[in-house]
Amino acid sequence: MSQVPRALLDADPVVCVDDLGEPLRSVPASTPCWRVDEAFRADPDLLCLAVTDDDRARPAPGLLSRTAFLSAMSGRLGHGRSLHARRPVGHLADRDVLVIDASTGVPRAAEMLLARERSRRFSEVLVRRPDGELRLLEAERVFRALSAQLAREALTDPLTGLSNRADFLRRLDEVCAGTGGAVVACVDLDGFKAVNDSSGHAAGDQLLRRTAERLRGCAGPGAVVARLGGDEFAVLLAGASAADAQHLAARLQEALGRPHDLGGRVLPGRASAGVAVCSALPAEPSALLHEADLAAYRAKQAGGRRCEVVDASWCSDAAPLAPDHRAFEAAAAAGQLEVHYQPIVAVADGSLRSLEALVRWRHPQRGLLAPADFLDDVAAAGYSAELDAHVLRTALTQRARWAAEHGDAVPAHLNVNLSVAGLLAPDLPAVVARELARAGVPSRVLRLELPEVATAAHVRAAEPSLRALRALGVALTLDDVGSGAAGLSHLSELHVDGLKIDRRYVERAPEDARSAVVLRTLVDLGHGLGVPVTAEGAQGPEHLALLRRMAGGRCLLAQGSAVAEPLHPDDVPALWGAAVTAGAGRWPSASARGGSTAAACAAPPRRGSPRS
Ligand code: C2E
Ligand code: CA
Ligand code: CA
Repeated sequence: MSQVPRALLDADPVVCVDDLGEPLRSVPASTPCWRVDEAFRADPDLLCLAVTDDDRARPAPGLLSRTAFLSAMSGRLGHGRSLHARRPVGHLADRDVLVIDASTGVPRAAEMLLARERSRRFSEVLVRRPDGELRLLEAERVFRALSAQLAREALTDPLTGLSNRADFLRRLDEVCAGTGGAVVACVDLDGFKAVNDSSGHAAGDQLLRRTAERLRGCAGPGAVVARLGGDEFAVLLAGASAADAQHLAARLQEALGRPHDLGGRVLPGRASAGVAVCSALPAEPSALLHEADLAAYRAKQAGGRRCEVVDASWCSDAAPLAPDHRAFEAAAAAGQLEVHYQPIVAVADGSLRSLEALVRWRHPQRGLLAPADFLDDVAAAGYSAELDAHVLRTALTQRARWAAEHGDAVPAHLNVNLSVAGLLAPDLPAVVARELARAGVPSRVLRLELPEVATAAHVRAAEPSLRALRALGVALTLDDVGSGAAGLSHLSELHVDGLKIDRRYVERAPEDARSAVVLRTLVDLGHGLGVPVTAEGAQGPEHLALLRRMAGGRCLLAQGSAVAEPLHPDDVPALWGAAVTAGAGRWPSASARGGSTAAACAAPPRRGSPRS
């Protein structure tokens, strides 16, 4: 899974296809072929020509490639030149070329390409500028630009323009994979809710933007500054020492303590900050962030408006396992790490196709915890791969029990998530094979979901495992496509058997035309690769209706609260058969809609079937 190359992310953003096209020579269609023959022979670097018509009745330009032209001129029996020399070159031009206006946006251009017949999708297109000039554009550049655009958007907080949480975690991973120390600061505004409540959300937004500017100022060039969510910010300094941590703390204290003038209304500057420094890397990245977060929490508990600095050198790999590892082992042994199941259905008719296993922690004091509440701690404790194995075993055992009790009513597939550490565990294929055999579940049932946050290096390292898993007959599905840095470039390098589109595009699509275009492009892309596509985040009937329209007759799967929330295993059998199509009134039954296009979804692609 390669990430979008850094250079692509850092390059100036490409807005429309005009920024992508290359200059191209044009010839009138009436030019005799011998003239064009001379031009190609005189210039070995001339690979392509645009062929234009003066005739108003045929305004569509054509494309003439060097290879196609020269092969026509030789002819099969060597008579091509005598046949074509005096004929106009317009006869040999490819007229089926896509012509795009220079002002067309990148997502729209990708959509136009994907709407073409499959064999023509990945060839060259012509870009027409306002003055009539034609430029040449390789289709692949459009997909690469779209990929970079998605990546950039997925990594930016729209309100402040800072990095978002996903980008911050990715940069933290990169820094911790290098050598030298790192400093992480977490900043939390004091009394932010009161500002929102008393002065309104516009003032709240302004305060967040001002805070972002001040943080940029005190972090200095080269630092990563992010808004992690709400009124929480973070700063990352690479290669930094304990002295740098102290300097940063002093600058934060000064900058965040200054009052804010919000258009005449002056608010006191109030924030709590925590700074964690690890001078011996490689460190466990999420542990370092966690330490800074805890320090900020302590600063807030102590009355706020202060900054606490902690030495987190124990986060270094050289440090012994965090004591939490034991705690998670004990929670698993006590049956507190439960697995819940969320249905995945065909949008055409609501039929149940799979269940995604999602972990929960039934904590004796804190109640039922969602993954977001404890997965960072699981990672910091070095327990991720063991948690994945625990969920796999629990889910396969449960699936075998359901199959024994309910036979064919049970859906054909079971989706199980892998963490990055689980993906990298050298014994992953052995664990999967062992658990399948232990539960007596056929390998074709299992779909492992690969985390989109995995980097190119992770995937390269995991490649032998992934190959072994596919050989076992286990399907690999790429999770959260469109959510992270990897973008579409994953897909060209990684053989996957399915895609899951990240929630954000589905959630926004009904009211945001751009998200709808990106969603459609990702759906088409998955279908173009010949793999099943699942749209996550189908929250309401409007999402399901949109997805059904987008699917046309093709197989599209959906997951989301409009179908069902993740369910306790005791509640899952209520889904079997007709019950899911009724879906508590939220899901129209196939019969109610008068037949279905479910046949398009009926046969999942067979293993090893060609990917086009
Ligand atoms: P994910 O793999 O993308 O799982 C889908 C998440 O989106 C689930 O949250 C699900 O409840 C939620 N979701 C699905 N549809 C909707 C919707 O329409 N609206 C909203 N608001 N949410 C929806 P959950 O269970 O909290 O899991 C969060 C993440 O935690 C997962 O995201 C996955 O990355 C991770 N995770 C969960 N279970 C496991 C596990 O067993 N192992 C590993 N390694 N990671 C897990
Ligand atoms: Ca998942
Ligand atoms: Ca997902």
